[in-house]
Amino acid sequence: MRVDLRNIFASKSFTAWAVCSLAFLCAVLGSCQKRTTVEPKVVPAEARDLNIRVLLKNNADSAKLSTAGGFDVACTDGTSAHFTPGEVDIVPWNGMIRLGRHSFAGDVDLQVKDTFVTIDGRKYRGDVRIIIDARGGLDVINELDVENYLAGVVGEEMPAYWEPEALKAQAVAARTYCLYIKHRFGTDRQWDVKATEANQMYGGLESESAMVRTALDATAGQVLTCDNGDGPGGIFPTYYSSTCGGHTEDSKNVFGDSYKPLSGVDCQYCKKTAGEKYMNWKPVVLPSSVVTAKITSGYSSLEGLTTVDKIVPTRVSDYGSTGRIAMLKVVDNKGKTGILRGEDLRLTLDPSGKVLKSTWCNISKQPDGSFKFSNGRGFGHGVGMCQYGALGMAREGFGYKEVLSYYYPNSDLVKIY
Ligand SMILES: [Zn+2]
Repeated sequence: MRVDLRNIFASKSFTAWAVCSLAFLCAVLGSCQKRTTVEPKVVPAEARDLNIRVLLKNNADSAKLSTAGGFDVACTDGTSAHFTPGEVDIVPWNGMIRLGRHSFAGDVDLQVKDTFVTIDGRKYRGDVRIIIDARGGLDVINELDVENYLAGVVGEEMPAYWEPEALKAQAVAARTYCLYIKHRFGTDRQWDVKATEANQMYGGLESESAMVRTALDATAGQVLTCDNGDGPGGIFPTYYSSTCGGHTEDSKNVFGDSYKPLSGVDCQYCKKTAGEKYMNWKPVVLPSSVVTAKITSGYSSLEGLTTVDKIVPTRVSDYGSTGRIAMLKVVDNKGKTGILRGEDLRLTLDPSGKVLKSTWCNISKQPDGSFKFSNGRGFGHGVGMCQYGALGMAREGFGYKEVLSYYYPNSDLVKIY
């Protein structure tokens, strides 16, 4: 999961916002951790909380949809239609939505007659809503119950062949995360989560597997809560990322929120399971012209910068000798400065997040003016559960509850349905 900062702080100007510390691993792990309890049905979730609306396509100019059993359409303009089995082209058309030869002057809800519907070649459970977005393109939204949604998430976010206890930890983290995002943002828009790394990867029916279903069934309805949580049962955004590199990060340094379970912890597990390409990534060199262009086009407040001359970390997480860059200053060749979070800079320079793998690195200027990102450690934002660390803990015999309480300290495991 790579959380899109813009998704959370909503502005590129501050839009530009928006996926744990035992100082050492206790020899007797259980003795220094908060005990977790599963309390069946202590906080019943509202039924409305248990459907997830997934944004499959955003501002698209077309989509192909097919069913084996046909579907019914109800449009918000009051019209309806029945479609027989087969493939239908969907396009925006003069502010309307055209499905095959039918045009609708409002949002359309498709009620599918089968187990699944195929959209652009991928199969999805549940129903579909299609809307014309503010820019005139199509938004395609898949709505289904949370457990079926998670069946299409867990296997995308963690290999289904990994240890069962790691998959269970992933299931609880993914469940809590999506319910939190729905609670926090879903009321102001027609969808709850994106189907991408911006929230959680969702691959639909074809991403499901027996191993993932087993992990979901074993943890059904279980979420993590905390004292200052928000939403059903007091949940919080259970971010997670691939490889912390040795220490997870305080959420306030990356996402700005300060839930107690999102404080950084030492992690000695991922180094036993993650490969070198994640633990110690190779240096990346970017020309100053590229750095300048990406920063100035990414932030309206930084448009006035000329050629970026220096990148100076102003706050670095303290993990001992090194740490992640939390905040930094960019300085142009005329002395003008701008301030950015380290994670914002990383994803502005590399939106994929796969080249500049983390903010745990050194930034130095080269003789030719380019910038070198070296001594890189870890893959991802580093907040919350370290997925390779969860694998490492599971391999050493820890159960999913221990994994979760390790990476989300001061959290409680609660069953809400
Ligand atoms: Zn780790």
